[in-house]
Amino acid sequence: MEQYVRQLRMLWQLQELEQQMQVQENDLQGIPSVKEHHQKQNELLAFQKMLQENKKKLAMAKKEQRRKELELQTMIDLLERLQHKLYSGEIIQVRELENLEKKVQSTRKDKSSLEDDILQYMEIIEQGENDYSDDRKIQAEKEDVLQQLEIKAQKDVQVAQRKLDLSRKQWEELRQNIDADLLDKYAELSRHLRGRCISLVQKGFCGICNVSLPSSFRARMLTPGQFVFCENCGCLLVPGD
Ligand SMILES: [Zn+2]
Repeated sequence: MEQYVRQLRMLWQLQELEQQMQVQENDLQGIPSVKEHHQKQNELLAFQKMLQENKKKLAMAKKEQRRKELELQTMIDLLERLQHKLYSGEIIQVRELENLEKKVQSTRKDKSSLEDDILQYMEIIEQGENDYSDDRKIQAEKEDVLQQLEIKAQKDVQVAQRKLDLSRKQWEELRQNIDADLLDKYAELSRHLRGRCISLVQKGFCGICNVSLPSSFRARMLTPGQFVFCENCGCLLVPGD
């Protein structure tokens, strides 16, 4: 009889272990540090992308600045030539002189506006370079945080996995010690009932639905080969005390 009760209790333990394994599996799937790592990784990728875009914009601004500087040089040369011509005395006709003077005036204006443009580009580039340098530092910090988080996540996964592995080992050992017909019965009950199907009875109460069981149940539960079920929830009753 004792052997039979021990077997029933092991079956109940098997069920509890399976419940625990389910929780542990869920834990393994939803480790907070893993989620956080994933999130931070995406954040860093977005940041890196933004940084690349800014770098590209900066390179374009520099290119544009160089182009405008070349343009300015051409304009300075032109202006020099025009002024030289204007004051050389080689032009005598008034109309021609007037036209040339106008040309000098407009070229000066163009030169001035080009210089303003270049100045503006210089400011943009300086600001862009400062921002880029700051962002590089932020990126390095983010990478550092991510690395720390990755280490933590890996550790957390290892711990959770180890817990689950240990439970699985216990589960296998337990199964080996339980009679095959009891395991069959358990499998059959599991198919019909959702969740737990084995109830550990303590102080005369069903361990699953908590209903009070008639005292006559106890003797029946202790009889080898007898499967006694709770009339309320249908679970197989196992004497717990
Ligand atoms: Zn019950």
